[in-house]
Amino acid sequence: MTELCDSLSPVKRACIVAFVLFTVAGSRSQVNQPKKIQPDMFLVTIDTLRADHVHCYGYSQISTPALDSLANDGIRFDRAFTPSPITNTSHTTILTGLLPSAHGVTDFAVALAATHATWAELLRKQGYQTAAFIGAIILDSKTLAPGLDRGFDFYDNFPQHIQSKSRWGRVERRGMEVVRHAEGWLDTHRAGPHFVWVHLYDPHDPYEPPPPYSHIYKDRLYDGEIANADSALGHFVAYLKQQHWYDEALIIAVGDHGEGLGQHQEETHGIFLYDSTLHVPLIVKLPGHGKAGKNVAAQVRTADLLPTVLDWLGIAAPAELNGQSLRAYLVGNEVADRTSFGETDYPLRFGWAPLRSVREGGFKFIEAPRPELYDLRSDPQETHNQFAPWDPTVQKLRGIMAELRTKLPAPQQPSPAALGQSTTDELRALGYLGPADALSSTNVPEPSLLPDPKDKIEAQNLLHRAMLASENGRINEARSALERVLQMDPKSPTALLQLGQLELNVGNGRKAADCLGKARDMRPDDATAAFYYGQALNLTGDITSARDALEQSLKLQPGQFPARLLLGQIYLKLKDSKAAQDQLEAALLLQPKNAEAQLELAKAEVANREFYNAEMQLRFLAKSQPENAELYELLAKACAGLGKYRDAELAQQKAEELRRRTR
Ligand SMILES: [Zn+2]
Repeated sequence: MTELCDSLSPVKRACIVAFVLFTVAGSRSQVNQPKKIQPDMFLVTIDTLRADHVHCYGYSQISTPALDSLANDGIRFDRAFTPSPITNTSHTTILTGLLPSAHGVTDFAVALAATHATWAELLRKQGYQTAAFIGAIILDSKTLAPGLDRGFDFYDNFPQHIQSKSRWGRVERRGMEVVRHAEGWLDTHRAGPHFVWVHLYDPHDPYEPPPPYSHIYKDRLYDGEIANADSALGHFVAYLKQQHWYDEALIIAVGDHGEGLGQHQEETHGIFLYDSTLHVPLIVKLPGHGKAGKNVAAQVRTADLLPTVLDWLGIAAPAELNGQSLRAYLVGNEVADRTSFGETDYPLRFGWAPLRSVREGGFKFIEAPRPELYDLRSDPQETHNQFAPWDPTVQKLRGIMAELRTKLPAPQQPSPAALGQSTTDELRALGYLGPADALSSTNVPEPSLLPDPKDKIEAQNLLHRAMLASENGRINEARSALERVLQMDPKSPTALLQLGQLELNVGNGRKAADCLGKARDMRPDDATAAFYYGQALNLTGDITSARDALEQSLKLQPGQFPARLLLGQIYLKLKDSKAAQDQLEAALLLQPKNAEAQLELAKAEVANREFYNAEMQLRFLAKSQPENAELYELLAKACAGLGKYRDAELAQQKAEELRRRTR
């Protein structure tokens, strides 16, 4: 027995370590007394909103009365830019005033370091009541955006482990629901000053606006989603007016990034750094409607927002911020353009080179394996690449980027928190490829040696379409998109992994094992690929190879509950009940209440003649599973092993009775 315990401990220890690593500790700041005039502040971020698809930005094919009216009462910035085309990264910039490589949240599930103060934290210290209402799980602080809730008294995360298949409520909320949550919170937290952040996710794909926008914009569903988000904003503004909070509030409406809509062949966003995804609308309504109706033509950045509100409140900004106050543009006559940077590491998810850009003096330079230079005055669509290495503009803009790099912290590998499979699935339901599938960036010796995303965008569009199609159960559509990617690039690990998972889900064990075996060979360090490969092999009946694949997966990532459970079951099939017990005990350390693992453990205990533990476990389980015949058969064996023959007989009778009933 001692020997057995000793052999168990390394596995358990690894699980405990992994389990502790999952836990993200929150912190709370001291609340000081309010001192100055403190307006209520409402930050409304609208996801995936191109500036040129908003009515007051000159787009005549849409009606956005709420944004238009806010612009009438406030100041509209015609040329505002985000540094990132990815939701959590761009929001972290808004909330910290830092560029992505400074705040470090350049991937999903990367925790925001406690050393970077957030908007909510800084205002809370001034006595603000703070709350955040998010429209998608991508900003959920329990899983995909750890640390983003820092400083918020209330952060409206999504319910965990929700069983629903529908995306609504599980991974996404309609704008109107987000706004109702915010209004409900304000109803019960009337004493100000308030800082409330409302995130409207609607324009993000898939484009599925509710009626009446689904009819009005039936041929332009993206616009329909924008109109829907605008109506939610309208509801919120009407509420603020009704409460008499509107006039004296500082209200900011801003996009987190735009949408490709096929420009540069990019259908959605995340891969490229063109204006289609970096140019966002920005409207600031000042307390007392100061400078109502003003337009600012100068180039500004979303990193400037936090410094602006701190300046407005007379609070010293943390020294490290990359943005600067916009006060001189809001109430003064400042017209100077501000240099705007862009960065995206999302291509790394697919094994392609990350991109960096700078927009300055009417030019944009994009650092890529094949670099790009655009003269934005003559070529605002960025279609004529004028890059030449000796071009003085290229040299100047490269110099600006180099100078920025010296000011930023040394690049660090982001370390995403380990994600559960359900979270990775949720991320995929939103159309993003999660870190668990990723090419480990530690395997990338030199980004410039990776393929240029410009050469891969068609594959990315197909992968994206496949993700959304399989999420919506359109299996054939997803399969044919993935097969097309593999025709273009037979070794695409992402396509192999996705197709393998799809075949696994529909029960095609052999085809799944074929794809997943190749994916595993392409990415020997990817625990997820090895886990799925093990599942596929198990389905084909090759349980010895399945065992090896699962052992390999768990060596890479010890804290995977489903892999431990399956490996335990496979050891039971292989009649190695000691190894099975080891794995199942480790699984239960990760999920102590999992009934399936508890029943499997009882099976292993019976096989190992640990009848006393097995009986205890089974009697406890029988309370919640009184109809489970297998459970009573096991109980009969455990009782017989203990010499309790009458109990064994009763349990056996119960099992037979249950079997008869289900026949
Ligand atoms: Zn977004």
